[in-house]
Amino acid sequence: MEDVSPFELAEKERELSNSPRTKVGCCLLLKDGTKIVGKNTVGTFGTTIHAEVSAIARLNPSIKIDAVFLVANASMFTPCGACMDWLLQFASEDCMVFVKNIDLPKAMGRTYQLKDLMPHYPQR
Ligand SMILES: [Zn+2]
Repeated sequence: MEDVSPFELAEKERELSNSPRTKVGCCLLLKDGTKIVGKNTVGTFGTTIHAEVSAIARLNPSIKIDAVFLVANASMFTPCGACMDWLLQFASEDCMVFVKNIDLPKAMGRTYQLKDLMPHYPQR
Protein backbone atom coordinates (compact mmCIF):
# COMPACT_ATOMS: atom_id res chain seq x y z
CA MET A 1 0.00 0.00 0.00
CA GLU A 2 1.26 3.45 -0.88
CA ASP A 3 2.46 5.49 2.06
CA VAL A 4 0.36 8.65 1.98
CA SER A 5 1.76 11.67 3.80
CA PRO A 6 -0.10 13.03 6.83
CA PHE A 7 -0.69 16.33 5.02
CA GLU A 8 -2.25 14.51 2.06
CA LEU A 9 -4.53 12.58 4.39
CA ALA A 10 -5.52 15.79 6.20
CA GLU A 11 -6.28 17.52 2.90
CA LYS A 12 -8.43 14.62 1.68
CA GLU A 13 -10.33 14.68 4.96
CA ARG A 14 -10.71 18.49 4.82
CA GLU A 15 -12.44 18.16 1.45
CA LEU A 16 -15.16 16.08 3.16
CA SER A 17 -16.03 18.77 5.71
CA ASN A 18 -19.60 20.04 5.49
CA SER A 19 -18.68 23.42 6.97
CA PRO A 20 -19.97 26.29 4.83
CA ARG A 21 -16.96 28.43 5.76
CA THR A 22 -13.80 27.12 7.39
CA LYS A 23 -12.99 23.57 6.33
CA VAL A 24 -10.31 21.84 8.39
CA GLY A 25 -8.69 18.45 8.01
CA CYS A 26 -6.49 16.86 10.65
CA CYS A 27 -4.12 13.94 10.66
CA LEU A 28 -2.68 12.77 13.96
CA LEU A 29 0.58 10.86 13.73
CA LEU A 30 0.90 8.60 16.75
CA LYS A 31 4.14 7.36 18.34
CA ASP A 32 3.62 3.91 16.79
CA GLY A 33 3.26 5.36 13.28
CA THR A 34 -0.53 5.11 13.14
CA LYS A 35 -2.24 7.95 11.28
CA ILE A 36 -5.74 9.03 12.32
CA VAL A 37 -7.75 11.61 10.41
CA GLY A 38 -10.59 13.90 11.34
CA LYS A 39 -12.50 16.80 9.86
CA ASN A 40 -14.67 19.57 11.24
CA THR A 41 -18.39 18.96 10.99
CA VAL A 42 -21.21 21.45 11.49
CA GLY A 43 -24.61 20.40 12.83
CA THR A 44 -27.99 21.76 11.78
CA PHE A 45 -28.20 24.14 14.73
CA GLY A 46 -24.62 25.38 14.41
CA THR A 47 -22.98 22.92 16.76
CA THR A 48 -19.53 21.92 15.62
CA ILE A 49 -17.04 19.12 16.02
CA HIS A 50 -13.55 20.37 15.32
CA ALA A 51 -11.20 18.32 13.16
CA GLU A 52 -8.71 17.72 15.96
CA VAL A 53 -11.39 16.40 18.34
CA SER A 54 -12.90 14.31 15.57
CA ALA A 55 -9.54 12.55 15.17
CA ILE A 56 -8.80 12.32 18.91
CA ALA A 57 -12.12 10.55 19.48
CA ARG A 58 -10.85 7.70 17.28
CA LEU A 59 -7.41 7.17 18.79
CA ASN A 60 -6.20 4.56 21.23
CA PRO A 61 -5.48 6.76 24.26
CA SER A 62 -2.58 4.58 25.38
CA ILE A 63 -0.52 5.69 22.35
CA LYS A 64 0.65 9.30 22.47
CA ILE A 65 0.29 11.77 19.59
CA ASP A 66 3.68 12.52 18.06
CA ALA A 67 2.59 15.18 15.56
CA VAL A 68 -0.52 17.00 14.40
CA PHE A 69 -0.99 17.92 10.73
CA LEU A 70 -3.69 20.45 9.93
CA VAL A 71 -4.92 21.76 6.60
CA ALA A 72 -7.37 24.65 6.57
CA ASN A 73 -8.76 27.23 4.22
CA ALA A 74 -8.12 29.93 6.83
CA SER A 75 -5.02 32.04 7.13
CA MET A 76 -3.01 31.85 10.37
CA PHE A 77 -5.01 28.82 11.52
CA THR A 78 -4.00 27.15 14.78
CA PRO A 79 -5.96 24.77 17.03
CA CYS A 80 -8.50 26.58 19.20
CA GLY A 81 -8.29 26.54 23.00
CA ALA A 82 -10.69 23.63 23.41
CA CYS A 83 -8.78 21.53 20.88
CA MET A 84 -5.51 22.46 22.58
CA ASP A 85 -6.89 21.02 25.81
CA TRP A 86 -7.71 17.74 24.06
CA LEU A 87 -4.40 17.63 22.19
CA LEU A 88 -2.32 18.32 25.29
CA GLN A 89 -4.14 15.53 27.13
CA PHE A 90 -3.15 12.90 24.57
CA ALA A 91 0.08 14.27 23.05
CA SER A 92 3.69 13.50 23.78
CA GLU A 93 5.77 16.15 25.54
CA ASP A 94 7.56 17.03 22.29
CA CYS A 95 4.51 16.91 19.99
CA MET A 96 4.77 19.13 16.92
CA VAL A 97 1.98 20.90 15.05
CA PHE A 98 2.28 21.47 11.30
CA VAL A 99 -0.28 23.77 9.68
CA LYS A 100 -0.95 24.48 6.02
CA ASN A 101 -3.34 26.95 4.50
CA ILE A 102 -4.59 25.57 1.19
CA ASP A 103 -4.52 29.06 -0.31
CA LEU A 104 -0.81 29.53 0.25
CA PRO A 105 2.18 27.88 -1.42
CA LYS A 106 3.44 24.73 0.31
CA ALA A 107 6.51 26.58 1.52
CA MET A 108 4.27 28.86 3.57
CA GLY A 109 3.32 26.14 6.06
CA ARG A 110 3.99 26.83 9.72
CA THR A 111 5.45 24.62 12.43
CA TYR A 112 4.91 24.87 16.16
CA GLN A 113 5.73 22.86 19.20
CA LEU A 114 2.36 22.00 20.74
CA LYS A 115 3.30 23.19 24.22
CA ASP A 116 4.34 26.61 22.82
CA LEU A 117 0.80 27.25 21.56
CA MET A 118 -0.55 27.13 25.13
CA PRO A 119 2.44 27.94 27.35
CA HIS A 120 0.49 28.34 30.58
CA TYR A 121 -1.39 25.05 30.32
CA PRO A 122 -1.25 23.23 33.69
CA GLN A 123 1.59 20.75 34.07
CA ARG A 124 0.64 17.16 33.35
ZN1 LIG B 1 -10.89 23.50 17.83
